[in-house]
Amino acid sequence: MNKIKKLDPVIIDRIAAGEVIEKPASAIKELIENSIDAKANKIEILTYKGGTEKIIVKDNGEGITKVDLPLTIEKHATSKITTIEDIENILSYGFRGEALSSLASVSHLEIQSKYKDEATGNRLVAMGGKIIKLEPFPCLQGTKVIVENLFFSTPVRKKFLKTDTIENKNILKEIIKLSLANPSIHFIYNRDDKQIFNMHPVPFESLPERINLIFKNNIIDQLLPLYFEKNSIKIKGWIGKPRIQNSLTDKQYIFINNRPVEIKNFSYIIKNSYGDLIPDEAKPIYFLFMEIPPSEIDVNVHPAKKEIRFLNENSIFQYTIESIRKTLIPNIPLSIEKKSSMARNIPVKKDPPPFLYPVEEILKSNIQTVTMISEQIPSFQKEEKINSDFLPTKHFGILFGTYILAADQDNLFIIDQHTAHERIHYEKKREYLQKYPPQLQILLNPIIFHLNQEEIDIIEEHRKVIRDFGLQFDFITKDSIAIREIPDFLEINEKDLFIKIIHKIIKGFNSIEIYDEYIARKACLASFKKNDYIHPHFITQILIDLSKCKEPARCPHGRPTMIKISRSEMENLFYRKGF
Ligand code: ADP
Ligand code: MG
Repeated sequence: MNKIKKLDPVIIDRIAAGEVIEKPASAIKELIENSIDAKANKIEILTYKGGTEKIIVKDNGEGITKVDLPLTIEKHATSKITTIEDIENILSYGFRGEALSSLASVSHLEIQSKYKDEATGNRLVAMGGKIIKLEPFPCLQGTKVIVENLFFSTPVRKKFLKTDTIENKNILKEIIKLSLANPSIHFIYNRDDKQIFNMHPVPFESLPERINLIFKNNIIDQLLPLYFEKNSIKIKGWIGKPRIQNSLTDKQYIFINNRPVEIKNFSYIIKNSYGDLIPDEAKPIYFLFMEIPPSEIDVNVHPAKKEIRFLNENSIFQYTIESIRKTLIPNIPLSIEKKSSMARNIPVKKDPPPFLYPVEEILKSNIQTVTMISEQIPSFQKEEKINSDFLPTKHFGILFGTYILAADQDNLFIIDQHTAHERIHYEKKREYLQKYPPQLQILLNPIIFHLNQEEIDIIEEHRKVIRDFGLQFDFITKDSIAIREIPDFLEINEKDLFIKIIHKIIKGFNSIEIYDEYIARKACLASFKKNDYIHPHFITQILIDLSKCKEPARCPHGRPTMIKISRSEMENLFYRKGF
């Protein structure tokens, strides 16, 4: 007797449908996406009982022709691609031709549509995937899809539906995502005959207005615009201002080529980019729109296209970090003036010597001299680059035990001695780590930590990657661990740090990223604090070192290291312009 049987096509359909239409919210998502693909500029969504009783999505798009209408619920029938190469450059949301057929097989489905170039509309009614009515039907241009009794044919799936409240929440999330990705479309959402949203079209630049309509509480005032472009990758959007306390992850949205996606570890990366500009337990706010050449991503990895794969994930992550940091603190020294003037390109008369004391001529205003001076200080190498935006030529000592006052020919810099010194240490340590990867070091006295069950489970589960990273350990009792071997770069003496490092290892970060926080902490400890006496000669060295940093204007935790006030700004303040 055969034990293996070929499944009935109807069963195959229902199993496959489960991948695309997992819950009412997935139906909503697919229907809205179809409306957007049909170039609608107004979409109305109505749901009843969390979408389980009835869903209606109505649009004013191009509509469906009479002959196409029955094809819409055929499996793998789509008007959006014809060849496999088309997927590589896909701009529409749909292309798999699975949504309506899946939806039809698990519900009572009705599609009313009038195509823009046809005189009358038509209607299709299907039950469990079989067409039971196909007839002319009077309607306006566009399409209306009505879904009733979702999952009537898959009782198990129906049983697993959550409460209406939870399904409503999921639905809301899908509507929010697509409405943020398409600000020029008018969205109306009614739930159980109560209006939830009426979002009028806005240009992309005014998206914060739509965001405000959705999240209320004047979230518009908490957003900073972000724009970043590098190597054919563009990132634009809005992120939360520093110091904003936000405890929910509900304001975290990422769109790639206008498709809402979920990226593993993304919110973690963004959190890290903020450093300590937001509290540890706070959740960053972000609405980011990335434009990536379609050939560098694969959208066809998930039946509902929720996930996306990158050809070069690392550089995308790197750019994200860079874009956030540049937005929080622009890499040019901060200034109350908008534009930064490039001091060295403008010929200026030689300044009379300043009369403040102590005065130390750092260098004449060209790079050669900097190199010469740096030769006298053994820790510098000649070929190190000077950051062109920050190159003071003299300093006037320290104010309030905290701020170095320095100037170039055209700007006064007020530099925080601690954060500046921190930045220098941080970059040097990172560079060192890149040059000399850590070696394994056996500890004479193992470090012992007590762990809770959750921590033990995580370590047990990822034993191998943690070992491969260079942390050798044993569990010595059921709740304590002895660390016997560690990379020599590290000094682990706090459990907190150990756990943080473990989390980063598990998440697959590279070693620089794993060590980053550790380096920042070490840098902080090694740096001058408020009221520390700094010899004028050493101030000079700090300024030279800082000018060689990649990001001189902020400390590793994200705070500014300096403020700049330009000569012309001062002239404005003293009404000297034109005198
Ligand atoms: P896909 O979107 O992947 O092509 P679907 O099953 O979602 O597959 O839809 C099948 C086809 O039905 C689409 O390719 C499109 O031609 C047509 N269609 C579906 N919804 C609409 C709509 N709202 N307006 C116009 N055409 C639609
Ligand atoms: Mg579709």
